[in-house]
Amino acid sequence: MNKLLKIFVLLLVPVFAASAHEAHVHGIAQINIGTGDDNELYIEIDGPLANYISFEHNPETKQEIEEYNNFIRSVPGKLFSDQLFKVNSEANCFVKSFDNDVDIEDGHADYELEITYKCTNIDKLESIDVRLFEQFPSLNTLKGQIVNENSQSAFELNREKNIINLKGR
Ligand SMILES: [Zn+2]
Repeated sequence: MNKLLKIFVLLLVPVFAASAHEAHVHGIAQINIGTGDDNELYIEIDGPLANYISFEHNPETKQEIEEYNNFIRSVPGKLFSDQLFKVNSEANCFVKSFDNDVDIEDGHADYELEITYKCTNIDKLESIDVRLFEQFPSLNTLKGQIVNENSQSAFELNREKNIINLKGR
């Protein structure tokens, strides 16, 4: 179990349990944001693999293998160069670790990406510019939750509204 999930389970079992079973709908992914001890910020996205590549079965043809490998290999570069998420610079956050996973089942597949940022000025954390829509045109909507020690709030992002405001949450 990843760190963010642990926090969610500890704090908000019913809310997370509900969101974890969202339907598999192409074009939509879940995003969860949390902060933890040690000045860490967690971002987790989970949703159909079809949001990122053109198929969801095991890659078979040369073209599919190439498309799949290109996607998987491109993620770290995009992540570390802030092409997926850009945290407001005042918070001075950098990617400490990340993990991703593809789960293929019953003709569909899900892609999950979990990122841990370390922020040397986490008190200045204000916003996250979500750039996934620019990178992946098949992704239309992100349904999100921010969970902190004392509160949780839901939000929805799309191509036009792609900034998560964390201030006062
Ligand atoms: Zn699917």
